[in-house]
Amino acid sequence: MKTEEIIDKTEKYVASTYGRYPVALVKGEGAKVWDADGKEYLDFVSGLAVCNLGHSHPAVVTAIKDQAEKLIHVSNLYHIEAQSELAKILVENSFADKVFFGNSGAEANEAAIKLARRYSFDHFGKDRYEIICMKQSFHGRTMATITATGQEKFSKGFEPLLPGFRHVAFDDITALRKAINPRTCAVMLEPIQGEGGVNIPSEGYLRGVRELCDRNNILLILDEVQVGMGRTGKLFAHEHYGIKPDIMTLAKGIASGVPMGAMLATDKVMSSFVPGTHASTFGGNPLSSATGIAVMKAIYEEKILENCAEMGKALEKRLKSLKKKYAFIKEIRGKGLIYGMELDFEGGDIVQSALKRGLLLNCAAGKVLRFLPPLTITEGEIDEMFATLDSLLTEAKR
Ligand SMILES: *Cc1c(COP(=O)(O)O)cnc(C)c1O
Repeated sequence: MKTEEIIDKTEKYVASTYGRYPVALVKGEGAKVWDADGKEYLDFVSGLAVCNLGHSHPAVVTAIKDQAEKLIHVSNLYHIEAQSELAKILVENSFADKVFFGNSGAEANEAAIKLARRYSFDHFGKDRYEIICMKQSFHGRTMATITATGQEKFSKGFEPLLPGFRHVAFDDITALRKAINPRTCAVMLEPIQGEGGVNIPSEGYLRGVRELCDRNNILLILDEVQVGMGRTGKLFAHEHYGIKPDIMTLAKGIASGVPMGAMLATDKVMSSFVPGTHASTFGGNPLSSATGIAVMKAIYEEKILENCAEMGKALEKRLKSLKKKYAFIKEIRGKGLIYGMELDFEGGDIVQSALKRGLLLNCAAGKVLRFLPPLTITEGEIDEMFATLDSLLTEAKR
């Protein structure tokens, strides 16, 4: 099918919740994707931090094929071999003792919100349910997660939102301290804000958040849906900051594109989830779990974290050289292979022109070009992106 036909059908039959680019991608390999008319693109979006191992990674493809031939789905009423194995691997590589599986980031966050409230109910009674979230945050599109999200554009027109949430400025420890009150049961935040424009916390901020939570018996929920699974050069972003959460959520990169979300917690906290308190039909089914195992194995066997850290430095160096060259670049910020380039104008046009030149880029928070290549990216591919971007910025200057 040609691009035009696909676009026509999408417009006729699919809900227009996305402002889609006029491109239909039909094939991928590593950091390259091809559209329905055969045009090649270099992918610095990775399905929004999902295809961290690159497109159609052989180990992922094999895991999907093998598991599909054996057993695709059974109910969580039964034990699931691959789910138990993936949970073990995640626990052995994190702060957590137990894992709950769902199908998306929003669902993982829903589970985290429910668990925090239930834990607080069990230990402190019914009046301690409030969750403090951050401005500019993003936690998903369900009713609870748009309430948690600190950006009005995601919740406008969907009121009434859920009671029991409040928002403070990110990276402002004083604001958080002032907001904590006897009703607070948890603080929920992204260690690095993705959709909010790649916002990196100052040194000491997350340690300060952890201390405030400890002092007040408040749970710390970290949303690592975007920055977890190796994106920052460590398996989880909070490892850079010397802290551990009580609850953490994952999705995006966890099964390389097979829908999966996970909510991890310590035994102490997860013990508030008992049979009947929460569930998911698809969560952790054999197919997504087997894929998740293949992803975790590849991350370690193929030294993905090392490549991410090294290529992150290469990317940062090139982006910073562009900042020196173009006065309209306000800031370069990021970690590992999530980087933001803040412009003093809206970045949408650059994303459009990049697309025409065969480069997939994304723009967050209006003015921040966001770079999310596969973690398997090579220096040659970074150079290729750099050359295209440099010439696009030269044109943008005029
Ligand atoms: C993408 C994202 C979500 C939502 O994930 P979905 O799978 O789209 O529900 C939640 N939190 C963060 C930080 C994200 O980047």
